[in-house]
Amino acid sequence: MEFVTEFLEEAKQLEHFMTENRRYLHQHAEAGCELPMTVSFVKEKLEEIGLEPKEICQSGILAEIKGEKPGKTILLRADMDALPMEEENELPFRTRTKAAHTCGHDIHTSMLLGAAKILYDHRATLCGTVKLMFQPGEEVGLGARKMIDAGILENPKVDAAFGMHTMFGWNAPAFAYGKGFTTSFLDEFEITIKGVGCHGAMPHLGIDPINVGFHIYSAYQALVAREMPPTETASLTIGRFTSGTRSNVMPESAVIEGTMRTYDRSLRERMLKRLQEVAEHCGEMFHAQVQFRWLSNIPAVYSDPELSGQFAQCIQEYVGDYIKSSQCTMTFSEDFGFVAEKVPSSLFMVGCKVDGCDAQHHNPKVLFDESVLVYGAAAYAGCAYGWLQKTLSDID
Ligand SMILES: [Zn+2]
Ligand SMILES: [Zn+2]
Repeated sequence: MEFVTEFLEEAKQLEHFMTENRRYLHQHAEAGCELPMTVSFVKEKLEEIGLEPKEICQSGILAEIKGEKPGKTILLRADMDALPMEEENELPFRTRTKAAHTCGHDIHTSMLLGAAKILYDHRATLCGTVKLMFQPGEEVGLGARKMIDAGILENPKVDAAFGMHTMFGWNAPAFAYGKGFTTSFLDEFEITIKGVGCHGAMPHLGIDPINVGFHIYSAYQALVAREMPPTETASLTIGRFTSGTRSNVMPESAVIEGTMRTYDRSLRERMLKRLQEVAEHCGEMFHAQVQFRWLSNIPAVYSDPELSGQFAQCIQEYVGDYIKSSQCTMTFSEDFGFVAEKVPSSLFMVGCKVDGCDAQHHNPKVLFDESVLVYGAAAYAGCAYGWLQKTLSDID
């Protein structure tokens, strides 16, 4: 088919542009919801292409490519934030900041910039509108929601959304996707236990918050073992338990933080209640005050089965025969879930394994194969262009 070579060829022509961009973003990594250097760089690149990017909320960029033919509206998402950590490698473009792109969001952003150029060059035959969403704060679960609140899904209304994330299951070129819930619901909580401090020699005069915390910890293990159906996938991890200053002082308070990951909506609803209930009852049992607070609640990405199939077909047609799995489920969470809650969406995985590197996402030694940029850009562009063409007949 003619188009196959056309989109992939064009992406290959952009390899230098994308690699340079990726390295700049990598060197100037920024974490969280404020990404001043990243945003001005991405806006500048979009303007060079001929687009008019808008910062619709702090560090959230929207750019629209309007096709010259009528059609639906599709949204392509890339996240731009890094993590507040160091990286350990010998790359000449190692980060110069206090953040590092160990989740590959610099790759996502560069691929979408490449796709922007391809789609803009094809606007004469493009049917409908492509909205490019460059979001901040994915790692903190806030960015997508802010952009939705700022109206990214309206005017024109988004009919479908497509996102991609790097993965290390395969070497490039490789794509994988799933149908249904493909990432986990992520619920992060904090429990503050207030007891009564006293001398370690007179424990009966105080209320020991560590003891209360220990009972909460242990009851939570029982929740997983006794109240979660064995057929369901779920995990509950306490990642922080802090209290006290020295051996003979019973502390006043303790703090516990944890995360729960689930894939089933009703199990999640039940457990959200139980986590809070169990913590509060453990407090009552020992007369301590327990305050339970949600730090974040991120919905799982629901990859619409029909839409996912259509995107897979677009990748076959516009990039090549590189789909490795149609049953891919990830244990991490993605705040693209907020988009998927509102409009039919699909999240694809794109392979970028570097042989000899076993480090995974968020590891300071992780490496990404840059050859993924060409295939990822062609996939973003092909899914948008192809899907808009495929759904032309649905327009009245
Ligand atoms: Zn990450
Ligand atoms: Zn990520």
